[in-house]
Amino acid sequence: MAALKLAPMKVTMLSKAQLGFGAATDWAQGGIAAAMGKDDSPTLHAIDTSRAGAGISDERIVQILTTDAPARIEDLLELGTAFDRTDSGELELGLEAAHQRRRIVKAGGDGTGHEIFKTLIAAVQATPSIEIVDNTTADDLIVDNGAVRGVLAHDNVTGEPVAFVSSAVILATGGIGRLYRYTTNPVEATGDGIAMAARAGATLADMEFVQFHPTALTIGRDPMPLVTEAVRGEGALLINDLGERFMLGVHPGAELAPRDVVARATFEQLQRGRTVGLDARDAIGDAFPKEFPTVFGFCQSAHIDPRTQRIPIAPAEHYHMGGIAVDEWGRTSLPGLWACGETSATGVHGANRLASNSLLEALVYGTRAARDIMNADSRPDIEVREPHVPVVAPGSDEAQAVIDLRSVMYANVGVMRNELGLREALGRIADLERSFAKPANELRNLLVVGRLIAEAALARRESRGSHYRTDYSATDDAFARRSFTQLRISA
Ligand SMILES: Cc1cc2nc3c(=O)[nH]c(=O)nc-3n(C[C@H](O)[C@H](O)[C@H](O)COP(=O)(O)OP(=O)(O)OC[C@H]3O[C@@H](n4cnc5c(N)ncnc54)[C@H](O)[C@@H]3O)c2cc1C
Repeated sequence: MAALKLAPMKVTMLSKAQLGFGAATDWAQGGIAAAMGKDDSPTLHAIDTSRAGAGISDERIVQILTTDAPARIEDLLELGTAFDRTDSGELELGLEAAHQRRRIVKAGGDGTGHEIFKTLIAAVQATPSIEIVDNTTADDLIVDNGAVRGVLAHDNVTGEPVAFVSSAVILATGGIGRLYRYTTNPVEATGDGIAMAARAGATLADMEFVQFHPTALTIGRDPMPLVTEAVRGEGALLINDLGERFMLGVHPGAELAPRDVVARATFEQLQRGRTVGLDARDAIGDAFPKEFPTVFGFCQSAHIDPRTQRIPIAPAEHYHMGGIAVDEWGRTSLPGLWACGETSATGVHGANRLASNSLLEALVYGTRAARDIMNADSRPDIEVREPHVPVVAPGSDEAQAVIDLRSVMYANVGVMRNELGLREALGRIADLERSFAKPANELRNLLVVGRLIAEAALARRESRGSHYRTDYSATDDAFARRSFTQLRISA
């Protein structure tokens, strides 16, 4: 969206995977939130967003998000996005948990992200001012006198380093899911943007806030497919291997308790050595293939029949509220650098994200970053040094280090945290940092982001939103603020 809004200004768009692959946007199922209904307003949408944020969302930034939302939906419609419509031709608006109005714009039922992604890619490909350079991974920012002047990258196929000098760089590299043993994110979500910005000296915000989805399928796939909340909405029950419906003793809403509550209770079961399954046999039964064809397909691929068997699940990293700190124009703390989408931290989500607000945030703040860049001064070209390169070789010590890191992050810096576990994770991260003098890029980035999240989680001695400390289980007014940090570079 940012590249489109910058036209006719020349834009080079780098993509780690082939364009059209390796992006969470493509996988988004629920939809995109916007106050489009007659009974709705940006103010009501803002109230719901801030409520989910558990007291630390930036109200001004939230107001901008919800006010700009309808215009961004109109942009997508103009580009040809085929959103679902009612028989009378109006946009069909869905309702999701914690939204007080029907405001979820959808496409193809659960195919919203794919439809938006497809539309934007087609528009980008048809825009002559945009040059697409895919299968190319950005490794580091080019920094000159404190200002960002471009990107050092490498070609994934040849391994050749390549530099792009530019008066403005937008980081839109998505999430951090790869940092966790269990995740719903694409493998490309390695927090590269956060790590690059951190190394360049940018300010990061809200790093400790990581959202876990309670029901991801444990069928040996990595990333894990989602089992949509609608399955529980239809009455499916969470049962452990002793046959206990453990959510009954946890929350009055049982299986329909808030996402973080269900994720924590499920995680506790796993910690006690139990396994957890979603039992849809009585509630959905024979209707399962028709009601949930995508989930049914995933189950079938693992020879599980939800009509007659429990569906094995575990909580998985799903969304990172934190990231590169940006203002209302997507500006980072470094001149020449903007960020948008999941890699950024606008302050909209506070301690927890309201469902269907992340696609919206990417579109709204991507558009605003483009507007700001249009007005920015251009800078002269500069000299470029050799980039740090390549990749983690399969089977190598570095590949094993990534596996270890993902396990310790999931166990100690995940759904539930405490001081002992966080310090242990930081110790393990420090060991790994010491073990590799010049780690391959993926490991290098994951270590940076892992350390920043663990440090921020250690510093927040309370529980709020997605951040839960077993040693500080109450919310504490003394921490009712966002957190900001920078990477400490050791000598
Ligand atoms: C399964 C799933 C379902 C979801 N459902 C919803 C939903 O219903 N509604 C909602 O609002 N949100 C949903 N989300 C969250 C939402 O999809 C993401 O937060 C959002 O799509 C992020 O968009 P983005 O552009 O920031 O990142 P992405 O769409 O992930 O795009 C990032 C791009 O950057 C590329 N990249 C990464 N690193 C580099 C690098 N070093 N060099 C070059 N390129 C790089 C990636 O390959 C990718 O193409 C869901 C997420 C998942 C995983």
